[in-house]
Amino acid sequence: MIYDFIVIGAGMAGASAAFELAENSNVLLIEAEAQPGYHSSGRSAALFTRNYGTPLVRKINALSEPFFQAPPAGFTDRPLLHPRGALTVAAPGKETLLDPVLAASTEDNPVVEMAVADALDLVPFLRPDRLSRAVFEAGVMDIDVSTMLQAYLKGFKARGGTLSCRTKVTALSNNKGTWTVNAGSTTFQSKTIVNAAGAWAEQVAKMAGLAPIGLVAKRRTAIIVDALPGMDVARLPCVDFSGSDAYIKPEAGKLMASPGDATPTVPQDVQPDEMDIAIIADWIERETIIPVRRIAHSWAGLRTFVSDENPVMGYDPTVDNFVWHAGQGGYGIMMAPSLAQALAALCQRGRFPDDFSSTLTEIASLGLSRVSLKRNG
Ligand SMILES: Cc1cc2nc3c(=O)[nH]c(=O)nc-3n(C[C@H](O)[C@H](O)[C@H](O)COP(=O)(O)OP(=O)(O)OC[C@H]3O[C@@H](n4cnc5c(N)ncnc54)[C@H](O)[C@@H]3O)c2cc1C
Repeated sequence: MIYDFIVIGAGMAGASAAFELAENSNVLLIEAEAQPGYHSSGRSAALFTRNYGTPLVRKINALSEPFFQAPPAGFTDRPLLHPRGALTVAAPGKETLLDPVLAASTEDNPVVEMAVADALDLVPFLRPDRLSRAVFEAGVMDIDVSTMLQAYLKGFKARGGTLSCRTKVTALSNNKGTWTVNAGSTTFQSKTIVNAAGAWAEQVAKMAGLAPIGLVAKRRTAIIVDALPGMDVARLPCVDFSGSDAYIKPEAGKLMASPGDATPTVPQDVQPDEMDIAIIADWIERETIIPVRRIAHSWAGLRTFVSDENPVMGYDPTVDNFVWHAGQGGYGIMMAPSLAQALAALCQRGRFPDDFSSTLTEIASLGLSRVSLKRNG
């Protein structure tokens, strides 16, 4: 059979796009690994932070929020978002770094100044001598990523879609408007390809003879440590430390910490580097009163960006019916709902959803013809 769409990659980008496309089309979703979400989508910090990323990413995050708050009927009976809040703190001498954080405050999503004493009360692991100013954003939330991914996949199958795991695409060719996708000795055909292969998106495009778009995969490390004895971890907010990219957030009764590293690396099943683990453990002991006696768990994941750090979504102008859905950076979970809706509308109706009108021109600018993408080869 010839599918309408073959989506390559069952991370959050591919699963959400496949779900939206399957409402009106015949879709095959192909994943190299045994489990969808094995790479970046299963390794995130699982935060919904409206005020994170480029100005356009922030608008896309905001467009996604209604889906998170009220997904379509039957999608899941569990909430996708849980209140968390984020405290951003500044050490002595760095107080003005919080000005832009405060300036992002809106009526919908307030960011407010918090007295230092209240901040210490809220987050008892902070060092009083390292805390000179604090601001609080209540609208930051935890995303139930696992529920979200499973709901996309369940909904996709309910709409008649087919998921094929352990199926690594090895070759792509186009003959008279039909794409042939080879996965080892297995062959599939479709009218359109959606390339949602995350860090591997350029490798997939290369199989189709397409030039790279400047994607760079960057490793980010996370560790899990014990909280202080007796600390009520569940009520803690996420804590961002201005002047560094490091953050700490509650994670299943313990604390997750990341140095916020962004080390360029080749696409791979990325593992944490011992040096990055040592750096974040040492940093926790210097910036907080948490003694790092043991690291319960550590991991690393890839955040993949093009140079302008906006996602890349749209038809490749150099070949027929090849759609990129890549460059999700550090925001791919929270952007997924609105980007998937935009992609399906573009592919099936040739235009973006009407309710995206205020950001329409900018969403359209996520395409491959933007000047900031330097294509070589
Ligand atoms: C430490 C960390 C913290 C993060 N925190 C957040 C956060 O708080 N909030 C947020 O929104 N985002 C966050 N992110 C970013 C988010 O995780 C990513 O943007 C998102 O997961 C990217 O999804 P994806 O589907 O594009 O990529 P992936 O999840 O990597 O999916 C791509 C899939 O394509 C498959 N694939 C590749 N090549 C082939 C092939 N040849 N054939 C078949 N399949 C193939 C891969 O196996 C993979 O499963 C974080 C990321 C990291 C690493």
